[in-house]
Amino acid sequence: MPEITQEIRDKYETVIGLEVHAQLKTKSKIFCNSATEFGQEHNSQVCPVCLGYPGVLPVLNKKVLEYAILTGLALNCEIARHSKFDRKQYFYPDLPKNYQISQYDMPVCKNGHIYINGKKIRINRAHLEEDAGKLVHAGATGLAGSTYSLVDYNRTGVPLLEIVSEPEISSPEEARIYMEELRNIVRYLGVCDGNLEEGSLRCDANVSIRPLGQIELGTKAEIKNMNSFKALQRAIEYEVERQIELVEHGERVVQETRLWKEDEGITISMRSKEEAHDYRYFPEPDLVPMEISAEWVHRIRETMPELPAEKRQRYISELGLSEYDADILVNSMEMAFFFDSVIELKTNVKTAVNWLMGDITAYLKENKTTIDKTELTPESLAEMLNLIDKGIISNAIAKKIVIQVLENGGNVEEMVEKQGLSVISDESSIKDTIKKILESNPEQVERYKSGKPQLFGFFVGQVMKETGGRANPETVNRLLKEELAPC
Ligand SMILES: [Zn+2]
Repeated sequence: MPEITQEIRDKYETVIGLEVHAQLKTKSKIFCNSATEFGQEHNSQVCPVCLGYPGVLPVLNKKVLEYAILTGLALNCEIARHSKFDRKQYFYPDLPKNYQISQYDMPVCKNGHIYINGKKIRINRAHLEEDAGKLVHAGATGLAGSTYSLVDYNRTGVPLLEIVSEPEISSPEEARIYMEELRNIVRYLGVCDGNLEEGSLRCDANVSIRPLGQIELGTKAEIKNMNSFKALQRAIEYEVERQIELVEHGERVVQETRLWKEDEGITISMRSKEEAHDYRYFPEPDLVPMEISAEWVHRIRETMPELPAEKRQRYISELGLSEYDADILVNSMEMAFFFDSVIELKTNVKTAVNWLMGDITAYLKENKTTIDKTELTPESLAEMLNLIDKGIISNAIAKKIVIQVLENGGNVEEMVEKQGLSVISDESSIKDTIKKILESNPEQVERYKSGKPQLFGFFVGQVMKETGGRANPETVNRLLKEELAPC
């Protein structure tokens, strides 16, 4: 695709709306008792209801509705007093009934909003529906694709909450941040595990462009198949460029569904987009309409945990964290919960943040894990931070201790005692070490004395190395200066 200059790009405005499907984390499916656990043997979690046998009747899982209401409240939505399910008809091998039970004109939640970097993004609706199954392509694979497909119905009937934004997102980056915040919210609520790779949180993006100043929306294309936040941003970036390119050449954007091809970094046409009337929606006759009492909604509201935006605000205004630090902590839920427990133990907030975002984050990244899966407890970290604050262990020693505790756990105070890790402040012992270092490096001493003061750091380093990082740095500095002073 030929390059589009920034000048051309600036003539257009990008309009994005996101449809996010969150798989609700209930033990059983939305309309039957089959289990929902991910990664089980194909077709091992099915029953006549989710397989769509004739004569069976769906029964709504109450927990599903409760999760939808809780999420709706967190997204500042109005919760419907009366709601119902509808049938959406279409044929596909992964849909055994040939219709999907969804919600059409009376969703559980509507008219909500969240804030992204201070900008309000309105949420049109959040409605419940059942998931479809999954095709497993098999047989010889080649350029023409596989020779046949199998179908796994384990996912059929897993509860989904589809959260539909208004087309108010105006850049690929904003779309990514919006999606990240939705993920934070459903994870903090405990209603969805937010795993993009496993598909428990999926996103379709409706993308269009229009010349700056035009009020009417351009024709949109729907993009699917983005399995990471990075892919979401890249796919929209590509799609915006593609549409500008078309319009600049006097062509038209076609309303269609496009597939993101991660390997090639492009979107390709998949099928023309259906309109709502193609689905022949009608009220689901096998389920009674839902009556949602204000009292029940009130009780659900009382179970609302601290939401990501509130936590961020508290970290900044009450704990004095920078916006950057607050954001990083909150965006990693496990880390934020851990941090909350550590500071409850009366540790220095700043030191706790530095350790969590420094050495501990580096360790977690390297080992591709989260803090709750390590052996480190808030108690042991608090204990270590207190020993540093009291000057009993040095930072250098703490760096070693924290890795040991992350890997094997254990009592930090005992570890310091047993392994003899406390800081050496005994002057005569440090002085002996300094003398030894100076004696074995006569050349460096000579150069230092003849006007190379930058060698001072070398001597400090040698003394710290010799003492295994345990010497009190201030004492080392003072005694070294004394020893190196011209006689
Ligand atoms: Zn079932």
